Order: sequence, then C-alpha cells, then structure tokens
Amino acid sequence: MSKNDLINYWENSGLITDERLLNAFRKVRRENFVLDKKQAYHDMALPILNKQTISQPSTIMIMLQALELNENDKVLEIGTGSGYNLALICRMVKRIVYSVEIHKELIEFAKGNLKKSKINNFEIFHQNGYFGLKKYAPFDKIILTAAPNEIPLELIKQLKIDGIMVAPIGKYTQRMLKIINKKDGLIKQDLGDFVFVPMVE
Ligand code: SAH
Repeated sequence: MSKNDLINYWENSGLITDERLLNAFRKVRRENFVLDKKQAYHDMALPILNKQTISQPSTIMIMLQALELNENDKVLEIGTGSGYNLALICRMVKRIVYSVEIHKELIEFAKGNLKKSKINNFEIFHQNGYFGLKKYAPFDKIILTAAPNEIPLELIKQLKIDGIMVAPIGKYTQRMLKIINKKDGLIKQDLGDFVFVPMVE
C-alpha cells in the first residue's frame, strides 16, 4: 500500500470525508514515525518502542474524524507513542496540542519524530493519563490511544460542555466510543470493535 492507495480507499469507500483530515494525512510523513519505513503505509498497527504500537492508519482516521476537530480547539491526547496521531492533530489545529505519555523513552522518540516533521505546536507531559492535565483543562476534545477498562471520570471532568472524547474502552477487546459531554449527561456513540494496548493503571 502507498499513501495514495490509502487515501483512495478512504475516499472511494466514503469512510473518511473530512477534507481537512485527509489533507493532514497527506502532509505528515508516516515514515518519520515508524521503525520500518517500508511498512509505513500498510494499513496495520506497527511496533514502536516499549512493546507499544502506532495505531493502524484507518483506525486513527476514524477516531480523528469522530473528534470533529476545529482549528481553534484545545485538544488533549492520552498516549503520545510515536507522536504520529499528535502530528495529525497539530496539522489540524492552530493552538498548542497537549499530549500525555507514561513511558519516558517514547516521549524522546516522539519529540524526535515531530522535529523531523517540522511540527512545533505541541507539549508532551510525562505522567499517567488517567489524571488528564488539570492545569490546562477544560478541553474541547480529548482522544485516548490506549484503552482503559472504563470511561475515566477524571477525563470527563476535564471536558468542556459539548466537548467530545473519543476512546477505546474495555478490558480484552474494546468498543470505540464517541462521548459527547452534554449539559444534562453523556451521549455515547459506539463506533465499533477495535483492539488497543491497555492503558497502564
Ligand atoms: N498515539 C500513538 C499510539 C500510541 S499506543 C501514536 O500515534 O503512535 C498507546 C500509548 O499509550 C503508548 O505509547 C503507551 O505507552 C501509552 N500509555 C499507556 N498507558 C498510559 C497511561 N496510563 N498514561 C499515558 N500514556 C499511556
């Protein structure tokens, strides 16, 4: 698969219709974020460091589309990993994007990859994502790229009213949920079955 094959597949199937997202995908070189460049555009998850994976391109695109990113959104990502998902978000919003990662080695890896990609509008924090990032809350959008067993309530508290959180939730297999924080409660939409690395407790 090449970059164009993936874009054609998403456009022809109607899976991804968000033009700004497709443009971000066009601009960011996934080669900069994977260990084996030959596999960069295979539609599969690939190993990075610390037994972690960079998610499958189609999965990332489905999640980011569900996040309905606007250029003025304040966004929090949990699980920086390679920094690839963060790079796509940084391309779609004007302000600083916040990301939290529990493994220090991955933060260095991600920073290097983002530098190669000439992306600067981010801040990465070394801490457990369950606690979110109170200092910068509330957020318009929160995306989790590691799976908790249940929806972390602390993260919901850090979401604005009408804010959106996209997260894989569940212990062995996960349902991808789009959660909208309405004034009178959460609206949950199920985006389907996905497999993610578990969020470290
Ligand atoms: N978004 C990443 C995919 C990362 S895989 C990318 O585009 O490459 C999930 C990441 O979540 C891993 O890097 C893992 O170390 C991190 N992680 C797992 N549990 C975490 C936790 N409790 N807090 C923060 N990060 C966590």
